[in-house]
Amino acid sequence: TELFSARRSCTTCPYCGVGCGVAATREMTSAGGEEVVRIQGDEQHPANKGKLCVKGSSLADTLGNHGRLLKPRLHGVDCDWDTALDFAASKLRETIDEHGPDSVAFYLSGQLLTEDYYVANKLMKGFIGTANVDTNSRLCMSSAVAAYKRALGADAVPCNYEDLDEAELVVLIGSNAAWTHPILFQRMQAAKSKLVVVDPRGSATSEMADLHLAITPGSDAALFNGLLHYLAEFGALDQGFIENHTENFTEALYTAAEWTPEKVAEYCSLELEQLLEFYELFRTTEKAISFYSQGVNQSSTGTDKNNSIINCHLATGRIGKPGCGPFSITGQPNAMGGREVGGLANMLAAHMDFTADNVERVGRFWNAANMAKGPGLKAVDLFNAVESGQVKAVWIMATNPAVSMPDARRVAAALKNCPTVIVSDCVADTDTARCADLLLPATTWAEKTGTVTNSERRISRQKGFLPKPGEARHDWEIICDVASRLGFAEAFDYASAADIFREHAALSGFENNREQVRRAFDISALANISDAEYDNFTPVQWPVNAANPQGTARLFSDGDFFTPNGRARFIAVDPQCPKQETRDEYPLVLNSGRLRDQWHTMTRTGRARKLLDHSEAPELHIHPQEARKYGIEDAQLVRVESEKGQFFGRARVTASQKPGQLFAPIHWSDSLAHNATVSALAIPFTDPFSGQPELKQVAVKIEPL
Ligand code: SF4
Repeated sequence: TELFSARRSCTTCPYCGVGCGVAATREMTSAGGEEVVRIQGDEQHPANKGKLCVKGSSLADTLGNHGRLLKPRLHGVDCDWDTALDFAASKLRETIDEHGPDSVAFYLSGQLLTEDYYVANKLMKGFIGTANVDTNSRLCMSSAVAAYKRALGADAVPCNYEDLDEAELVVLIGSNAAWTHPILFQRMQAAKSKLVVVDPRGSATSEMADLHLAITPGSDAALFNGLLHYLAEFGALDQGFIENHTENFTEALYTAAEWTPEKVAEYCSLELEQLLEFYELFRTTEKAISFYSQGVNQSSTGTDKNNSIINCHLATGRIGKPGCGPFSITGQPNAMGGREVGGLANMLAAHMDFTADNVERVGRFWNAANMAKGPGLKAVDLFNAVESGQVKAVWIMATNPAVSMPDARRVAAALKNCPTVIVSDCVADTDTARCADLLLPATTWAEKTGTVTNSERRISRQKGFLPKPGEARHDWEIICDVASRLGFAEAFDYASAADIFREHAALSGFENNREQVRRAFDISALANISDAEYDNFTPVQWPVNAANPQGTARLFSDGDFFTPNGRARFIAVDPQCPKQETRDEYPLVLNSGRLRDQWHTMTRTGRARKLLDHSEAPELHIHPQEARKYGIEDAQLVRVESEKGQFFGRARVTASQKPGQLFAPIHWSDSLAHNATVSALAIPFTDPFSGQPELKQVAVKIEPL
């Protein structure tokens, strides 16, 4: 058919933290004919250079209004926007007046765009006067943030994707990148670097690795303490770098010294030969990247695990150089953008901590009289506070905590009992939406407009190329409308997402010229961009400021860190076992993660037939020996039970699991299938530094059904 017309928009993929550029073309084959959307990789985007994985390339199949929330809905009945916004504002106002600002909370999402995040954070921390704003990124990478801050002085990812092209060795820890970050995995393969995978279970990634270290779940810190000790023993330390650019090395090495290879091999359940092969590879390979993800972070000791990895890079000076560095990869498309604006309850804005000085300055910048003075409730504490009645009104945006939180069914019950629950979402029926008093229809990918930041600190545009459906509005518009009804109209009078971005950029550089300020996140060079420049935004890596107007590909090349004295800090790590230990009643360890073709709770990917073909129903992966022991056949329905609840899945008998360990994908939920929410089984133990819950290790028992 001859093409009648075509309009091309460059945007970014809404799924993983790789942040691939997407070219979406609306095509019409005849006048008045049906319009189709064609999706391709954006060849100009540096993250993917034209490539897309199966999820990204199926985006066109996920469009359409089926299942969308298209009108506001109050107590189950459609209503108009004025009624909905009046209800939201009056409930928040009543609750604050009666119980104080800490009785309300927002729970945000790495699916939101930076501009949405910015106004939500500003409203809560500047005008309502509480820092009870947290995000589902807490579940994903908050331990990586805490560890970077401890070691490098800021939440600053040192590396970039080109480093993956240059690396000679990539150590993937707790990451099934072949499925979860496929485009980056392809880059590693193209670079022909040696791949070492550290993961308790076999995966598509470990199958393609040169070496797979199937460690005991949760033993990562011992593995890297042992590596630090080995590097010191075999003369692989960069003494000049340690002396000139770091501190606390002696303490870290002293703590690591007890971790001999023999002890590590036993603790991690590895063959000594295998372990030494890894240690030798790391010792002798100049360009080495450690690439890690949720397998490290979703732990009650995730921050320490991160620091044990970073220690090895500092000890060898393998940071700030091409092809080197500790590289934390985010799960979500805008987990990093949320961090930048203060989406985490323990951060203020623009990566600022809650110091009295920062509170005063941000208050002055926002002209806000009611600034939060200290950190708010992190995700697990936030929903505990909903349950206890301390939080009486919660607004949840673009996420599904009734499925994703540990002990998820308890979270759902707490929400059902909460006096006011507001949910903004693009879909009408989710487990969380079922708990809401008020549902607000939000725009989604293909309609939303704003910016996101990917795992290499690269800010890119997400652009709307389809009209808003029904009565849906952008999240930032909804938040500003509520702010206006709360009496803050002047501070939330934005004409566009570009307006918000300019303010966010200006705040990141506000009074940064003072001596004691050493801020990583500074995009002040973008504070005056025009609407046209925002529209045609060239992807750029922060910092973007007067010193680096074209952005910054790699941090710490000069050995100057963001700590007060400019030195990176070694952290002495004492490895700890996971909190959820197996016992007689619950003898097996349940791990969880993503499948290749699905995303989160499948509200988008579940619409594409070809993505469902990979796996259509909740699964439970189990080793043949364990299956025999419990009388479980392949494809048989199995009940998995922890002290918190139960999960039903079809057995997939596979030797990729070790005996004693199970794996279940996270994508299904109780609203999709009976007892299908895997997070419902987890006890909400959290990391003491980051507040990230231990979702990767649940003690369970099983039986065939
Ligand atoms: Fe989207 Fe991630 Fe796939 Fe890229 S790798 S197309 S960002 S899901």
